[in-house]
Amino acid sequence: MGKAYCIGVDIGGTFIKMGLFDEKGEKYALERLPSQALGPPESLLENLVQACRNLMEARRADEGRVLAVGLGVAGKLDIPEGRVVFSPNLPNMAGFPLAPRLKDALGIPVFMENDANVFGLGELWAGQGRHAANWIGVTLGTGVGGCLVAGGSLWLGDGLGFVGEIGHVIVDPHGPPCACGQTGCLEAHASGSALTRGMTQAFQEGSPMPSWLREAIASQSLTPEHVDKAARAGHPHALDLFRRMGWALGLALGNLFTFLGIQTAIVGGGVSEAWDLFFPHLMETLKTTPRMLHPTKIRIYRTHLGSLAPLYGAARLAWQGLQGRLGNSS
Ligand SMILES: [Zn+2]
Repeated sequence: MGKAYCIGVDIGGTFIKMGLFDEKGEKYALERLPSQALGPPESLLENLVQACRNLMEARRADEGRVLAVGLGVAGKLDIPEGRVVFSPNLPNMAGFPLAPRLKDALGIPVFMENDANVFGLGELWAGQGRHAANWIGVTLGTGVGGCLVAGGSLWLGDGLGFVGEIGHVIVDPHGPPCACGQTGCLEAHASGSALTRGMTQAFQEGSPMPSWLREAIASQSLTPEHVDKAARAGHPHALDLFRRMGWALGLALGNLFTFLGIQTAIVGGGVSEAWDLFFPHLMETLKTTPRMLHPTKIRIYRTHLGSLAPLYGAARLAWQGLQGRLGNSS
């Protein structure tokens, strides 16, 4: 009998990433297709079905079998129904029963989880999370996601449709507005959108900037990478935005570490590429603010799996789902 595999799928606002993994976490194939975030959900589904079928067909040629699919999706999800309630990166997916529709098309079980939770599962399976029993996962992207691993397992809370939402922990009630409607959330200080909003505001207030930066802001094409580049060129406002990012992350993690009695976090997501710009400020805050923690024992790890961490986690979700160890399947 041939080898068995699961497909992990990371559905982002720009791309759908897919990978084929065996039970031990070995990766066999990687695919990337446009997610067509602004198109109808049916066309995203159609592309996804076709790409899964291609992976399944390729394995059949050497007598391998694909047993299940795991999906990681950003946003609020109805896990029992396999439905996207609301996804900021995929606004047209709201209400769409993605998991059951994919299952019907492929004829194998499909499991779905929030993107920050699949980041945590990926780190637990193949990353830094293998070495600690209790830790907080943080994903720095357009927004800030989080997860909690307790006793070596992902914490699922009361099944409220959200868990580990560290991005909406308030670090400064008088701080900038957040996409959730609150003010001063961690996400309003430590996300890609906080960087671009902060830089745009500096521009509007007349802060001197090089022409490439002014043009990116004027054409509304400013990205966190631009702010990173400006900071590395010594722009004081860009440097200050990363300082605030580190400070806010340190404050949020310090509060949660103190409450939970833990001292480890794993940080990933695209904006974590700017590690050296915010990490010293994060550690400075963690070492000076929370009084009950031992500063030298705090461990903040940067993901080694890079942008593939959620993909590993989505495949792990499928394997665990097959063993009946997590949530519900569609
Ligand atoms: Zn918020």
